[in-house]
Amino acid sequence: MKILLPLVLSMVAGAREATAQDAECARERADMVETVRAYGRSDARGLGRQGLSERVLEAMRQTKRHLFIPERSCSIAYADMPVSIGHGQTISQPYIVALMTELAEVAPDHVVLEIGTGSGYQAAILAHLARKVCTIEILAPLAELATKTLRNLAYDNVSVRLGDGFAGWPECGPFDAIVVTAALGEVPPPLIEQLKVGGRLVMPVGAAYSIQQLTVVEKTAPDKTTARAVALVRFVPFTRSKN
Ligand code: SAH
Repeated sequence: MKILLPLVLSMVAGAREATAQDAECARERADMVETVRAYGRSDARGLGRQGLSERVLEAMRQTKRHLFIPERSCSIAYADMPVSIGHGQTISQPYIVALMTELAEVAPDHVVLEIGTGSGYQAAILAHLARKVCTIEILAPLAELATKTLRNLAYDNVSVRLGDGFAGWPECGPFDAIVVTAALGEVPPPLIEQLKVGGRLVMPVGAAYSIQQLTVVEKTAPDKTTARAVALVRFVPFTRSKN
């Protein structure tokens, strides 16, 4: 008892600290959602006058971005800024994640493909909105870490695959929506093939290390697509595997 009591008391104090930190993080996350909402309202080019939907904003509110970044700091995670996740890669600014998610028009029965898992944050947001999310990452350490993070947080409807996303993931599809989070000069043709008619692909199109056009491609018939550019963005390059 004499030995156990201080231990129990310090555990209670530890739990209290954790709860206080959780509450602080939730406040910072709620503030981030309001910032993102306000941006959405003023982004007529990207979204039209209606701004971001409550569904997407709710997914942002429910997803603990601080658990997807190396520092795990809430003040860093909930600023509307990109964050480095190591290996030369970054997790996008929350507004861009929200915008891409909104443009993909994800519904609860949808199967969604993401290219560029990175930290797994965008996949987690999509997992709140879709039935199934398949995501491909070309860098092994990032694919492994994202798999662990998503598993620990019980995102059971996300599958992570290590590989070059250019070829898509036919066995996981066909897809109602595709979100590509790395920049390339062209939309990979296999991704268009794996997109259902009526589906949308959202991707930064343009040269690496420069400004790209965030582009929404809609598949209107088996061999027909339309594309529109909605915003200027700067993404990390879409790299190709050598084999
Ligand atoms: N969506 C991520 C951010 C991604 S950054 C998040 O929410 O954290 C872009 C990612 O695309 C990087 O992790 C990079 O390694 C990956 N990537 C680049 N080229 C790729 C390719 N051909 N196939 C799959 N992933 C690729």
